[in-house]
Amino acid sequence: MTNLSPFRKIYAKEEIFKETRQRFERELEQFEQYADYLTVKRGQAQKKSGKARSYASYIVRGIIFYEETFATPFPPLHTREAFIGLDRLRQLPNYAEFNQTESRFPNAAINCLDSYTVHLSTLQDHEIDQAIDTYDELSRSPILYQDNVIQNARPRPEKVSFKGSEVYPRNVSESLRAKEQNHWQCEIDSSHRTFTDLKGMPYVEGHHLVPMATQDLFEYTIDFSANIACLCPTCHRQIHFAVPEEKLPLVETLYDKRRNVYSDYGIDMNKDRLMQWYGIF
Ligand SMILES: [Zn+2]
Ligand SMILES: [Zn+2]
Repeated sequence: MTNLSPFRKIYAKEEIFKETRQRFERELEQFEQYADYLTVKRGQAQKKSGKARSYASYIVRGIIFYEETFATPFPPLHTREAFIGLDRLRQLPNYAEFNQTESRFPNAAINCLDSYTVHLSTLQDHEIDQAIDTYDELSRSPILYQDNVIQNARPRPEKVSFKGSEVYPRNVSESLRAKEQNHWQCEIDSSHRTFTDLKGMPYVEGHHLVPMATQDLFEYTIDFSANIACLCPTCHRQIHFAVPEEKLPLVETLYDKRRNVYSDYGIDMNKDRLMQWYGIF
């Protein structure tokens, strides 16, 4: 690692910018699309905004600074490692000044990448969630385990390998407990109708309010019943796939209900950060 600050003005016409942009072209396009989606309002088709384009440009600059500073190739843009990589740049001495000079676009772009990578890894986690909700065969694999009630801060478990990636195993008992505690009703509105599941209970789904995709950031497990919301399938889809303004009331309701419990589990949570993970800025 070099002692010199990597931060400087880099123009889009410079060779290093063009070369880096090209290397991540496809991933950057998808990132831009996501950044555009965050600006969509209810009942409006997605439009291209200049903002998404400039966020992507600041990601390109971040990649250049990262590779120069740490002398290692930048990880794939859709992984949490990409966010963690750019977040490391923020700890460097001259970053704050650079961010200021560039009208805080660097920070906005990194925050957007935080939200993007959480969103993508949450989609991957869905397969595991679904297995838990449907009492699937997966329960015999090391990805799922059962344990006694978690009542206070417990160190996070070791990752296990699942379909080619390393993921945190899930405590099935905590998901079940969350559903029992909510009487197998949707936490958003108990009148939301579902259907009867294989075990004769109303079908509901467990959703980690603080997403499992962020477990790396916490020393203690976030896989405990109080962090698992009990939702009807529609509300569950809504909290993942709605436009930001339609996600907001759900995240807010669920968070306000349990905001005081996180400290009991050693989890330092705040609403702004949580909103960011849901793409609500
Ligand atoms: Zn979910
Ligand atoms: Zn519902």
